[in-house]
Amino acid sequence: MAAAAVPAPQPVHDVVDYNLLFDCVHCGLCLEACPTYLVARTEMDSPRGRIYLMKSLAEGALELDPWSASHLDLCLGCRGCETACPSGVHYGRLIEDARSYVETHYRRPRAERLRHWLVGQLFPHPARLRVLVAPLKLAERLGLRPVIERLAPAATRRWLELLPPLAARRPLAADALDGQEAPEAGSVVVHHGCVTQVLAASENINSERLLRRAGYRVLKLSRTGCCGALDLHAGEKARALRLARANVAALKQCGAQAIISAASGCAAAMAEYGELLKHDPQLADDAREVAARVTDLSSLLLKSNRPLGNGARWRVTYHDSCHLAHGLRVREQPRQLLRSIPGVELIEMADADLCCGSAGSYNLTQPEMSRTLARRKVDNILATAADYVVMGNPGCEFQVAGELRRRNAPVRVMHLADFLALATK
Ligand code: SF4
Ligand code: SF4
Repeated sequence: MAAAAVPAPQPVHDVVDYNLLFDCVHCGLCLEACPTYLVARTEMDSPRGRIYLMKSLAEGALELDPWSASHLDLCLGCRGCETACPSGVHYGRLIEDARSYVETHYRRPRAERLRHWLVGQLFPHPARLRVLVAPLKLAERLGLRPVIERLAPAATRRWLELLPPLAARRPLAADALDGQEAPEAGSVVVHHGCVTQVLAASENINSERLLRRAGYRVLKLSRTGCCGALDLHAGEKARALRLARANVAALKQCGAQAIISAASGCAAAMAEYGELLKHDPQLADDAREVAARVTDLSSLLLKSNRPLGNGARWRVTYHDSCHLAHGLRVREQPRQLLRSIPGVELIEMADADLCCGSAGSYNLTQPEMSRTLARRKVDNILATAADYVVMGNPGCEFQVAGELRRRNAPVRVMHLADFLALATK
């Protein structure tokens, strides 16, 4: 008698898009590309382990408790596993949905709840962030920032240490970089983001000036706020959807042919608007159209033949920001641009595309793993003996600069836009 077929397990909880889980064939090829696995060496801190965990939660075989939540929390959302995966697993989508499930169904300890609440109430809101950093900016001008950092309680000190110098960031003079508009180059808008417009405004302004110099018509958004990436990565999907809708409407109205962001996490989030809003009856088509226009600064600058460089000699190494490398799959363009500058010697660091531990607000919510990854990144930077480390994301810049400051290392950390502006004076 033939044995009765065992029925396939069915999801009992709406954790993630259940069918996506079956793209994973458990080959393990992603493990060595996963920063948390490289540090912890435990299956549950690997992509494969987390996918298994999501499946077990969905099927009701596992409780959502401190243990399972902690393994999902430890994921950086860096998407390094997506690049390594031969089966095309959409890990970024899976972890965002799993995070949203955790935030809806799991009650965190009070301190964690407070930390998550603070991150959500501060960082996506440029006006609030401006008010918060104003006294610190003043203290910095008066030379008092080190004193404040020393006297602050340990938890606050960690946050303060990650903030870049606030008073020293000035974009380069407009006339140094302005060029003549070339109609064939097309139009572009730089999305100014939330944290970037407060803590790294020079990156937005220099991006615009470099693009103008390269012949692009640079358009402005009437109002820019958070793209929703921070909320999406924190599991606050409803809020992320609200922000995504507002951005799609503004970007569509602006009409720019290309959309970029100085923050690669924001660019990658906007490039996913089509997927995120695919069920929105009003905005699905616009979201798809907006998403298709997202690109990055180096890809646009490479299309123009305006020479860069000012005769100086630079030893430079390049760090791949996760969402630029694994989200937008932009790796070669920034390197090509840097190599094209006379006088720049580009030195590759080991594991250039391994996460530095910044990962949005991860360095605030998972300080230990974040610090371990920052140390590893800085070891690799120092081994190149470069004078500059260049990258495409302000979060990585703050993280790497913080670790270099702790070691008194003289390497200068710069966003690609700021470096290109400096190298073109
Ligand atoms: S997103 Fe990054 S940290 Fe998370 S499982 Fe993938 S490689 Fe590991
Ligand atoms: S996520 Fe991809 S690489 Fe990792 S185990 Fe599954 S199929 Fe293999």
